[in-house]
Amino acid sequence: MTILTENQVIKLCVYIENKIKKNGCDHSYKNTFEWAKKNEINKADLTDILELNGAFCDCEVTMNLPENCDLELEIESKQMDSKNPFKIPLNFQQIENKVYTKALFSSSEYGNNNYTKNGELLIPAPYGFKAKKRVRKSMHFFNGTESELPSEIGIVKEIEPITGKEFAKNIRDLKWVSFKKFSERDAEYYFSRIEKIDIGKSMGTHFMERTGIDGTKIELKIHKVIFRK
Ligand SMILES: [Zn+2]
Repeated sequence: MTILTENQVIKLCVYIENKIKKNGCDHSYKNTFEWAKKNEINKADLTDILELNGAFCDCEVTMNLPENCDLELEIESKQMDSKNPFKIPLNFQQIENKVYTKALFSSSEYGNNNYTKNGELLIPAPYGFKAKKRVRKSMHFFNGTESELPSEIGIVKEIEPITGKEFAKNIRDLKWVSFKKFSERDAEYYFSRIEKIDIGKSMGTHFMERTGIDGTKIELKIHKVIFRK
């Protein structure tokens, strides 16, 4: 699906350059969205294509968009993985009977692509799971355990001490499709990514693709998120 033609990319860049010549860029998409509105371009599709090209504000749009081709959005259908649905790294080592005290929760403070209620426990969605609401293509997402709706950001909070085994069972017992196969190993990997992060910090999730001699491996990452002011 073409989002911007080659010609539109040039027009958009000229539009932004004229606008930011005087006052500079305020590091938002202000002028980009102004132009998109005038040209009846879907804002969500546009945001996806800009982010995929490393353009996160007006000045980056003018610097980073390729100017000699149409910009297309792939309609991707990712194959779910029945053996390793959450794409936990194959070399991840479990620690028997380890007890964990931190998990991720949604916060209404983070409104961007967050459809969960404030305070829902968050678990990454399995690879290939289609979010029930629109999220950005450049990010993976968590699902809320009360709504199964997506959120891109989770906040680290303290929980009652629990083992991966007990936690995984509690999550599976919720009967949501996305958590049906959430295993002890998945739970321990989730906790291992969070345990060293301070309470109150925000985290996101993505899949890292690594290509080696044995093909391309996809691994789940849960990482700290720093917000731009
Ligand atoms: Zn900028």
